[in-house]
Amino acid sequence: GVLMGLEGVTERLERTYRREALHDMLTGALNRRAILSIAERWRRAQCPFALVLLDVDHFKRFNDLHGHATGDAALCHLVNCLQQGLREGDMLGRYGGEEFMLLLPGMTRGAAMTVAERIAALVREQPLALPDKSLGMTVSQGIAAEDEAATLGEMIELADRRLYAAKHAGRDRVMAW
Ligand code: GH3
Ligand code: MG
Ligand code: MG
Repeated sequence: GVLMGLEGVTERLERTYRREALHDMLTGALNRRAILSIAERWRRAQCPFALVLLDVDHFKRFNDLHGHATGDAALCHLVNCLQQGLREGDMLGRYGGEEFMLLLPGMTRGAAMTVAERIAALVREQPLALPDKSLGMTVSQGIAAEDEAATLGEMIELADRRLYAAKHAGRDRVMAW
């Protein structure tokens, strides 16, 4: 009986460790290592997919105005908004501080564009509700498709260049070309 109990504890601990190894502690999204390893696996298997890099607009200003703790709450809220726009099988990871990576299996750039626009609208239309005020956020996104690049690194670079172009063009927009 004691041994059986220990087995249960070990199993639970293992599950916890695995979850913590793969997920970002703050938002619960996949962490950078986990999302990159999924993308790498899909590339090796030659699965077509689209990759989206998403970055919160003017987040430094958001923190400066509302404080770091509210910024943290906003990132958790953002992940909830993003999850509403994703299907089963889509992957969401926290790539860096306020930058996220989406992997959309079987999607062309055009289809991914539609998803990205829907996600942007979900974020825009659901401000973070605080007791005394509600705080809006917008995101910029850059998209690349698996068949555009020879390596995952090149694919990320393309998406990043397009994200940068979206920022430069005025933010709160998606670029796939
Ligand atoms: P841009 O529209 O060009 O992306 O402007 P930005 O201010 O979002 O860009 P920048 O990269 O200068 O700032 C990112 C900010 O995100 C700065 C950093 O303090 C904040 N940030 C990163 N990670 C976290 C986090 O975990 N919590 C909070 N509250 N803030 C974070
Ligand atoms: Mg930003
Ligand atoms: Mg950033």
